Amino acid sequence: MAKKTKLSIDLGLSSLKIKKVLIDSHGDYHIYASCTAKSTICHKCGKRITKSHGQCGESIIEHLPILDQRVFIHVKWPRFKCDNCDKNPTTSFKPEWLNNTGELTKAYENFVLKFLINSTVKDVSEKFGTTEEVIEGVINRNIKASIEWDEISPKKIGIDEIALRKGHSQYLTIISDISIPKKINIMAVIKGRSKDNILPFLKTIPKDVLLSLEAISIDMSGSYFSALKDIIDDNSHFNRIVTIDRFHVAKLLGDKVDKERKKVIKRLKKEFENDEEQLDQLKNTMWPFRQHPHNLNDDENKRLQNLFKLEPALKECYELRENLYEIFELDDILKEEAKKKIDEWCKRAETYKTKGFNPFTSFIETYRKYEENILNYFTHHVSSGPVEGLNNKIKVIKRRGFGFRNISNFAKRLFLDINYKHTLLPAT
Ligand SMILES: [Zn+2]
Repeated sequence: MAKKTKLSIDLGLSSLKIKKVLIDSHGDYHIYASCTAKSTICHKCGKRITKSHGQCGESIIEHLPILDQRVFIHVKWPRFKCDNCDKNPTTSFKPEWLNNTGELTKAYENFVLKFLINSTVKDVSEKFGTTEEVIEGVINRNIKASIEWDEISPKKIGIDEIALRKGHSQYLTIISDISIPKKINIMAVIKGRSKDNILPFLKTIPKDVLLSLEAISIDMSGSYFSALKDIIDDNSHFNRIVTIDRFHVAKLLGDKVDKERKKVIKRLKKEFENDEEQLDQLKNTMWPFRQHPHNLNDDENKRLQNLFKLEPALKECYELRENLYEIFELDDILKEEAKKKIDEWCKRAETYKTKGFNPFTSFIETYRKYEENILNYFTHHVSSGPVEGLNNKIKVIKRRGFGFRNISNFAKRLFLDINYKHTLLPAT
């Protein structure tokens, strides 16, 4: 074991000369330094000025911790006077490693941002022994919740809505760059989900970016569809790239089929009013019915098969639903082939009837309306897969209780946790 365990380190801060280092009762370092700068830039005329004019009061600047002890730099910045400008204004020196408030180094701010990823402001402020205001300041100064079009070139874009508060019709639209599924970037967080809400952002997309887009994934609500119609003049380009997300197609179909289940259950419950055993068997059939067969355990499967025995038409309904899902699961199938298969499926579904009502009729109508764009899935293979993953992340952020004071805080958190993460954390 070496006897000497001291080492000297470079603070990485220019224009400083260390005079002395004190350690306080907490073990924290106080580094007293003088500034070696001999000039600065006049804040009025922008010229370099060298005429010394005293110094400012002492600044105490927090820098990166050393061996888990906090580090404070004590320094008085020199002031310089300008002979070029009227009234000879003075400018105090400010090194490029200092943040805007003059109280933290930029390296320290980055350190804070790294800890903020997937954490709350409260958590981080407690761990850093500072206030929430200081931590929020770091976010506000460093995180931009917007994009620069000359810095990105998305090939595939996802547009999706999230509900802010269930039952309050408060929605956000999240627009993201989904070109690389494992490296999704948020492009915009927009209040609302109507056409008018999203058009202003869509209109900022430069023409060349719009023309080079390979795919845009959207839901079936119609408002994103019609907003995109407004900004993409070329109809054949629109039909090539705008893709209705397959999970939204599946959900629509699932909902229609589930309504049929509810009707059947209601009727059967009445029919077996006095048959305890049958009533018991009808219980807990909702989940098994909504699932794919391979997700069911023996008991769930038994209940489902019992239900189908009581109402064979419901089995047909269920199987038709699964048959359409299966088409979307087919790998390496061309758009034309998929179209043929779905057309055949529609023909079968159209003949399905129970008591004069066909749950597939309105689904098929919607399918026909968006056919070209639904079928684009088989060309682009974009889907809510990545966008859904993003939604989970958003749910977590919501649960952590961020951003409900205003949307821009929430947006900044999303940009930090998703976009900035790539640059702040070392690649694993
Ligand atoms: Zn000047």
